[in-house]
Amino acid sequence: MGVSAGVTEMPVRGEHPALDLVNTVFVRGGLRGQLVDALTRPADLAEWIAGHSASLGPLGSDPVADDDAGRAALASFTDLRDRLRRLLTAAVRGEAADPADVAAVNLAAREHTDWTALPAAGYGAPEHGTDAPRTPDAVRARTARAAVDLLTGPALELLRACPAPGCVLFYLRTHPRREWCSPGCGTRVRVARHSRRRGEGAAP
Ligand SMILES: [Zn+2]
Repeated sequence: MGVSAGVTEMPVRGEHPALDLVNTVFVRGGLRGQLVDALTRPADLAEWIAGHSASLGPLGSDPVADDDAGRAALASFTDLRDRLRRLLTAAVRGEAADPADVAAVNLAAREHTDWTALPAAGYGAPEHGTDAPRTPDAVRARTARAAVDLLTGPALELLRACPAPGCVLFYLRTHPRREWCSPGCGTRVRVARHSRRRGEGAAP
């Protein structure tokens, strides 16, 4: 999908991990720009996973290599990404999602495991945790689980598709004044409005 780019070129990073995955496809160059894909090589996926070690866990012994396994991991990540894009789009429009997307994301999320254990005393408040993901598939499962939590939790109210013309990114409106995915989109829209007004003023 689109031309390739590095993960570091993403205009918006550090959102919810499910949005950060979807936002690896973006438009460079505004309204008449081109669609760019930041996940086209196993190395891109390795970099994306490393950038989300705080929320999704560090990937330990099984890094994403440039081999068949790495390419398979990349393909399953981009499949999840495409499904999440359709799910987010349906959610912001208030439309029902494609049942195949719901089923696939549920299946991926089910691979995420967390545990509940007895505390040291043997009774009382339980301990909860998740094991660090050891494979890209485990990170994918966590990403899917995070998406389920997002689409079924209170943060759903904050979910927005950036309204700037030509932009395809999603964000959480965590601040009431956040109208765009990024300052870049806000600037672009203001400049376009300004030049349109000037254009109208100059018309006979
Ligand atoms: Zn935007």
